[in-house]
Amino acid sequence: MKKVLKWIKSSSLTVKWTIASASVIFITFTVFSLIQYLSIKDWMLTEEKVSVTQTLNELSVFYQQRGPVITKGEIVESETLIQQIIDRKQAVVIFNSRGQLFLNISSTSISPSELPEIPLSKEKNVQLIEVNSDPYYIGTGPIISNNFNGYMVLISPLARYEKMMANLLWLTVGLGILALLISALVGYFLAKRFSRPVKDLKYTIKRIERNGLQERVETLPSQDELGELLILFNRMMEKVESSFDQQQQFVEDASHELRTPLQIIEGHLRLLQRWGKNDPKVLEESLFSSLEELQRLKELVEDLLALTKQDDKREEYYATDIVDIINRVMDDFHVLYPSFSFTVDKESKQYLTDISPRHFEQLLIILLDNAVKYSEQRKDIVITIKQNSGKVLILIKDFGMGIPANDIPKVFHRFYRTDKSRSRERGGNGLGLAIAKRIISRYSGEIHISSEENKGTEVLIKLNEGKS
Ligand code: ATP
Ligand code: MG
Repeated sequence: MKKVLKWIKSSSLTVKWTIASASVIFITFTVFSLIQYLSIKDWMLTEEKVSVTQTLNELSVFYQQRGPVITKGEIVESETLIQQIIDRKQAVVIFNSRGQLFLNISSTSISPSELPEIPLSKEKNVQLIEVNSDPYYIGTGPIISNNFNGYMVLISPLARYEKMMANLLWLTVGLGILALLISALVGYFLAKRFSRPVKDLKYTIKRIERNGLQERVETLPSQDELGELLILFNRMMEKVESSFDQQQQFVEDASHELRTPLQIIEGHLRLLQRWGKNDPKVLEESLFSSLEELQRLKELVEDLLALTKQDDKREEYYATDIVDIINRVMDDFHVLYPSFSFTVDKESKQYLTDISPRHFEQLLIILLDNAVKYSEQRKDIVITIKQNSGKVLILIKDFGMGIPANDIPKVFHRFYRTDKSRSRERGGNGLGLAIAKRIISRYSGEIHISSEENKGTEVLIKLNEGKS
């Protein structure tokens, strides 16, 4: 028994379900059948008893009609008439008052000598007895007249009842086995149908463990609880995957975006170390720039978090003067790359755009970083600013190695680098332009690249004018 229980515990849901449904149906069927069988048995015995009592009454009436002067001879002669009253299988035995056999009217297999001791009384009565393990109803009644006193005994075998009950038993057992088979079969198919989504779910989770969060479970056409469960699972995985991607993107973006500001601070500190100790002007300026850069760094981290969380939301409207920012960033780049020359070409003193100052600075750093990184011989970088029908155009031009024409559309993809070995040497990850594009699209701006190999690259940014 313990082994069976252990086996059931460790077996699949389908097996458990099959066993449970089959047992429940089988037990219910057995209990109902048993009740039915016992009721029918009781009812049939009562019916037989009623019929025996009736025959006994008829016999009694028959002898009473003969009056009080019935003789022994007349009793013997009545044999044919009695045979008409009783059933073919019944027998009537008549005893005298001393209990000796007087007449045996019978065609049954049982002989009077086989009968057990029957208490003969003046009252009519019917009782159930067993002879050679066959059941019989025995009815007894008195015969009283002037010439003959005795008892009649009506013997009624219950063969018909026995046969019917045996048939009923076989039928019930047969139907029971059939019910067991059918319920097991139906239970099995139902269990299979219901456990399939659960199994699918299990395999999907295993696939997720193996291949990653992008795996999904195949949903069902039915809209029941299981169908809904699979849909909910996929929806949950969608959220898990996107939040996982966001986190990963944050880490990547953060490490990319923090690199240049940290380098700038490092540059200022080196300057301090070299000249600042003796020159109070350099000391003051470098300390101020470093602190300012640190402040921007703090804001950048917050901003990066916000950018990753809500990619396409834009909360505020700005009117940012980009000239200020360009001048400041160029000063920082001067500190970092003293061998480069940075020029700004502009017609007006102020250009207002609707981008946040921090985002513009981020953009500029990304693009200047590329311009510096991918220039080898000619170390000139020119920034041109123009204004045209509600747009501010910023063009960043370098004279470096350029980008092969085929690669230009791809450079905005995350982690795309034109020449992998070249970029790795320069510490590139292929993230800068992807981040730039995301920032710009947040402000409904545009970014375009035109480039020629070994001649140089031009990056054009179009932003909306900011109204002050
Ligand atoms: P990261 O910016 O993450 O440090 P990266 O500079 O390689 O790495 P992106 O700024 O996205 O990544 O640039 C993608 C690729 O485009 C670069 O690998 C480089 O090959 C090419 N590229 C971008 N700007 C220039 C440029 N001004 N001159 C030449 N090639 C460029
Ligand atoms: Mg870059």
